[in-house]
Amino acid sequence: MKVAFFGAGGKAGRAVVGRLAAAGHDVHAIELGDEPDVGGCAVAVDFTTPDAAPGNVRAALEQGVSCVVGTTGWDPEELGAFAAERGLRLFVAPNFSIGAVLMLRFAQEAAVHFPRAEIVELHNEAKKDAPSGTAKATADLIGGAPPIHSVRLPGLVAHQEVIFGGEGQLLTIRHDTTSRESFADGVLLALEKLDELPPGLTLGLEALIS
Ligand code: NAP
Repeated sequence: MKVAFFGAGGKAGRAVVGRLAAAGHDVHAIELGDEPDVGGCAVAVDFTTPDAAPGNVRAALEQGVSCVVGTTGWDPEELGAFAAERGLRLFVAPNFSIGAVLMLRFAQEAAVHFPRAEIVELHNEAKKDAPSGTAKATADLIGGAPPIHSVRLPGLVAHQEVIFGGEGQLLTIRHDTTSRESFADGVLLALEKLDELPPGLTLGLEALIS
C-alpha cells in the first residue's frame, strides 16, 4: 500500500522505512519543511517529535487518511476524537517492538503476586521525553504508582527493566531493543490490522496481539 511517512529520515524512520519497502509498501517520505500532503496514500505513519506529530496527524486526518503513530510524549486523545468524527483510525503505540509488549504483559501478571516494583528505562541520550511512553504504560498497567528511573546515555537504544521485590526474592523482567529495526514488525502489524480497528483512537500494540 502507499504509505506517507513523516520523519522518514530520522533514526527510527530510516530503520522502519527500509523494512516497509522490503515488505512491498510504496513509501512517500515527508521530511521537516515539506508540505504535509498525504494525498493518494492509504495510511500516514509518524515518527517525528512530540511537537510535530499532532500537526502531522491532524493534516493527514483532514485529508481523510488514517494514521499509525510511534512518536511519544504527546497526548493523542483530542485527535482520536477528531478521527472518530471522520470515521478514521488513529493508532498510537509507545512501543512497536513485540518483545516490549510481551514484557508489559508478563509484568502485569507478575504484579498480581509482587505488590512492590520499580521501573528502570534506559534510552539513547537523543530521546527528548522522560520517562518513556513504555515506562508510563507499564506503570499504569501494573498499578500502585511504581517509581520510574530514566537513564539517557550514548550507546543505548531502548531498554527497560521491571524489578519486582518480595520477601527474600527479586524478579526482573527485562527487554532490550538492540536495533531500531525491531520497531518495523509492530508497524507492519499495525498497517495490516488498521482497517479492523474501530474508528477513533486505539492505544498500544497489545491491542493487536492476541
Ligand atoms: P529523530 O532521529 O530525531 O527523528 C525525527 C525525525 O523527524 C527527524 O528526521 C526530523 O527531521 C523529523 N521531523 C521533525 N519534525 C518534522 C515534521 N514536522 N515533519 C516531518 N518530519 C519531521 O528521532 P527518532 O529517534 O527517530 O524518534 C522519533 C520519535 O519516535 C520519538 O518521539 C521517539 O520517542 C519515537 N520512537 C518511538 C518508537 C516506538 O516504538 N513507538 C520507537 C522509536 C522511536 P530533522 O532531523 O530535520 O529535524
